[in-house]
Amino acid sequence: MDGGLSNFMKSIRLVEVKIDSLTEISENVFVLSFKRLFDFLPGQVVAITTGQDIPPRLYSICSGTDEPRISILFNMKLEGELTPRLAKINVGDMVMVSAPFGAFLGDNEPAWWIASGTGIAPYRSMVRSGLGRLNTLIHGGKTRDSFYFSDELQQLYPDKYIRCCSQETGEGLYSGRLTQWLKDQKTLPENTNFYLCGSSEMVVEVRDILLEKGVIIEKIMSEIYF
Ligand SMILES: Cc1cc2nc3c(=O)[nH]c(=O)nc-3n(C[C@H](O)[C@H](O)[C@H](O)COP(=O)(O)OP(=O)(O)OC[C@H]3O[C@@H](n4cnc5c(N)ncnc54)[C@H](O)[C@@H]3O)c2cc1C
Repeated sequence: MDGGLSNFMKSIRLVEVKIDSLTEISENVFVLSFKRLFDFLPGQVVAITTGQDIPPRLYSICSGTDEPRISILFNMKLEGELTPRLAKINVGDMVMVSAPFGAFLGDNEPAWWIASGTGIAPYRSMVRSGLGRLNTLIHGGKTRDSFYFSDELQQLYPDKYIRCCSQETGEGLYSGRLTQWLKDQKTLPENTNFYLCGSSEMVVEVRDILLEKGVIIEKIMSEIYF
């Protein structure tokens, strides 16, 4: 973490909350839930840590605004400081969590929602909060099991849910990276916002593809998971 970010993270006020559930939904990918202590806007994040000794990390909320619990989706990084501890947490243990914040917010304007990996989380929150049912959802992942929440998303977006799988093939999957799928599109819709969420590599590459295809920068919203 750079100095500015680390000072910001240290200044965030955290409160203790009890873990209600932890589920491994794919290899090393978990959904963690706790009581909703705060209201939030779909697309926002919370800072979380297991204790004072580890600076908090940010996670997008993946649950809906009216649900009684807040859920996050996280990928356990084997060499990471926090996520291996989060992955071992027991129901009933306490974590420290901030109030929700952030400006990557969904609304009712037409949009394409583009995600890599766990970057699907804020869109799930948006759709579970009643937003974006007519949007197009494009998710990139390496393997067939990278498409978290795909059962529920497939039902909601039968025609407009594109899963781009770069290292495996499978029924209903586009074979290749999501950047290739975007490059393959001859035209992009007008009067549409483009939301990008996930790794910095994906966000930068997709932003460049969109700009090259004539999308104006004001229509591109990004959330980078660094
Ligand atoms: C706005 C925002 C929203 C986010 N939302 C999400 C989300 O919804 N879900 C999600 O999964 N993540 C999200 N992230 C990322 C998250 O905040 C953490 O960065 C991530 O979970 C890693 O935390 P960690 O403590 O386990 O890893 P860290 O300790 O922070 O390590 C980060 C990376 O460095 C590597 N590393 C660390 N130490 C070493 C070492 N000694 N040698 C080699 N490699 C090393 C680790 O493997 C890891 O890949 C978000 C980030 C931002 C900024």
